[in-house]
Amino acid sequence: MGVYEELGLSPAINASGKMTALGGSVLDDTVVAAMAEAARNHVVMDDLMKVAGDVIAKATGAEDGCPTTGAASGIAIAVAALIAGTDPDRIERLPDPGDRPSEVLLLKGHSVNFGAPVRQMVALGGGRVVEIGSVNKVSVAHLEGAVTERTAALLYIQSHHTVHKGSVSLADMIAVGRRHDIPVIVDAAAEDDLRHWPATGADLVVYSGGKAIGGPTSGLVCGRRALIEACRAQYTGIARPMKVGKETVLGLLQALRGYGDDETGDGGRERMTALAARLGQLPGVTATVERDEAGRSIYRAVLTVDPAAAGRDAQEIARELAAGSPPVFLRDHQANIGRLSIDPRPITADDEAELARRITALLGG
Ligand SMILES: *Cc1c(COP(=O)(O)O)cnc(C)c1O
Repeated sequence: MGVYEELGLSPAINASGKMTALGGSVLDDTVVAAMAEAARNHVVMDDLMKVAGDVIAKATGAEDGCPTTGAASGIAIAVAALIAGTDPDRIERLPDPGDRPSEVLLLKGHSVNFGAPVRQMVALGGGRVVEIGSVNKVSVAHLEGAVTERTAALLYIQSHHTVHKGSVSLADMIAVGRRHDIPVIVDAAAEDDLRHWPATGADLVVYSGGKAIGGPTSGLVCGRRALIEACRAQYTGIARPMKVGKETVLGLLQALRGYGDDETGDGGRERMTALAARLGQLPGVTATVERDEAGRSIYRAVLTVDPAAAGRDAQEIARELAAGSPPVFLRDHQANIGRLSIDPRPITADDEAELARRITALLGG
């Protein structure tokens, strides 16, 4: 019996993507082995954190890096670093910023909830969010006009959660930062291009270790050397309850080293095309293959459901699959408009067969 079964749980089949609610990523054996070995030995943590910075620098092209428990804590730590620097008194005073600039400018359409509100992560780091413009319309002039001597940072959220229409580009935000000598933080939590975002000229970039990177529940901040030094220093202050363990650091580093190695190369396109051809035969289902809406190299099978012919609508199908045993989770962001999709990344060939069997049984094809 497996560890989940022993607790009365069934391991889930996850075709919805890298979902925190389903435990992030399933780890490669090399990552599991690195974590197990790390767990069996002591290490000087300060030294480990510095060496980790070198590995992160190599993987991202940034000057240095700092492991975190996730992208959420990465945001809090980045903000804290920009407010308190390496000054021990200021670090210990946070989240009270004292007389230091602490306003963090955030486009209103970027003030999202990824499972928790971005605003709250900024507040944890001692920052105060100032939202700029309207949800669906904001200009460089709005941003420029909000910069004052109280501004500590500009924060850009790179995500499908944000409003893209009528927004300010990252390049424009970085230009504003440069003009006023204010650092720019990019939250690229779920992005798969580790070198692109640091190369934009952002001062600090935050990634989740448990999403595209495929590591354990973890994260990282990378960027300019002096600022990363300040990020590490926050572990003697507000970051202490976000402490990252040796096992997690080693797992993250192993995932970074192996990153890109095992890519099938086609982003799952071939597998999803075959699956779509099969599921498209079911009554009431039209199946296509679509590229990721955020432009990443991920190809998903998309099922468009005609409720009259299928006997149930997309939301009911998603609910019934999730309620079965083992539970099967499809990507259901657009179930309200009749669309369900299957993400190739987290599913094995066995998962895929089980998923096809369950959908077929449900729709009686
Ligand atoms: C997932 C996500 C986060 C949080 O990442 P964790 O690693 O789970 O802390 C932050 N920002 C965005 C845009 C995300 O998608």
